Amino acid sequence: MGLFGKDRQQPAPVRLSVADRIAAAQMRAQAMQSQAQMMSMQAHAMRQATALRGESASGGAAAGSMTWVRQVMAILAPPQPGFVKRCSCVVCGAPKKLPSVAAYVYCDYCASLIDYDLRRACDGDTTPGPAYAATVNATQAASRAAVAAGDRDTYRDLQRTVYEAYAANVPMAVSHRAKNDPGYRAAYVSFMAEFALARAFDPAARALEAEMRQRVTGIRYSGNMMSPTVDPESFWPVTDTLEMQIENNRALYRSGRLAELDPDSGGHLTGKFAWSGFCQGWLGMLPADAAERMLDRAGLTNQYVPIQPHDGQPRHCGGCGGEFTALPGASAVICEGCGRKMDLGSAEIACASCGATMTLPAGANGVACPFCQSRVDRAGIR
Ligand SMILES: [Zn+2]
Ligand SMILES: [Zn+2]
Ligand SMILES: [Zn+2]
Repeated sequence: MGLFGKDRQQPAPVRLSVADRIAAAQMRAQAMQSQAQMMSMQAHAMRQATALRGESASGGAAAGSMTWVRQVMAILAPPQPGFVKRCSCVVCGAPKKLPSVAAYVYCDYCASLIDYDLRRACDGDTTPGPAYAATVNATQAASRAAVAAGDRDTYRDLQRTVYEAYAANVPMAVSHRAKNDPGYRAAYVSFMAEFALARAFDPAARALEAEMRQRVTGIRYSGNMMSPTVDPESFWPVTDTLEMQIENNRALYRSGRLAELDPDSGGHLTGKFAWSGFCQGWLGMLPADAAERMLDRAGLTNQYVPIQPHDGQPRHCGGCGGEFTALPGASAVICEGCGRKMDLGSAEIACASCGATMTLPAGANGVACPFCQSRVDRAGIR
């Protein structure tokens, strides 16, 4: 059975026995752990959250529903408007000042990826499209065969297919930079495929994956049919294994070509991505105090600080036409509207046809004006 086979055969389970639900939860958890690391975990976790949301169709906020997860998150962090996540840039050291609308938080000054916001990631629709599930199902057997045969090239190609579908069909799980920046997206797919390859062929990663599967099987459940609850004491060994997997991933990231392939240079976020995906999958099945403890252990209890007044200048994105803020001294910033990286090194350019002024994306010598579609070229270039 493919990873997503059960859901496709039973698109809207109305009544499941507790045993079925536990089996389904274990299947999902094991499926999640089969990739078990870093960002790849997010796809499964989000799928799990979606399935749970579908099962608690009676409404309300039963444990296990996405609404319940949001309520847990709400307890842990203040409301969004007027606040910005407390973090600073690992590259240039600047504190985050401007509000971020996406889960991926970029530096206001140099456009480096500086943080990942689980609370944002739990917002909105994270339903993976059916095309992604179909791709995962279609490649799973061949991927296993490639690992067994030691065929790294075939495995890498299969993973590229999976991550291309992931970027296209699970946009909430991927940086907003992937939306309109083909260069970023291609680099992201290459990086993720290479990371998957490194894990699949690493003996330590495989041993930890087996240990994770075994520990997930040891989880005890209680509660009623609509809201199975995980017994925390049986759950903590799973998080111990996760921490070892994160350590191993950090080592893989350092030893391979991964750092140079990563378009976001996000090595410092390896643990945060893994914990985030893990939490998205399990939060809804833990009692509230255990959920809080897990978020604390994961370092994900988001802290927000009020947005301070800033002396930034308004600019306009040459990609989407949206307004953004350029802080004094900033060299690049990611447009929150379209995900394009804005080059702040030169002044805004006016469109000769409609007069709109705009900032060009980094690396672009010109754009089609987002308002009138006329060609707008960087100064001095025709
Ligand atoms: Zn920076
Ligand atoms: Zn834009
Ligand atoms: Zn124009």
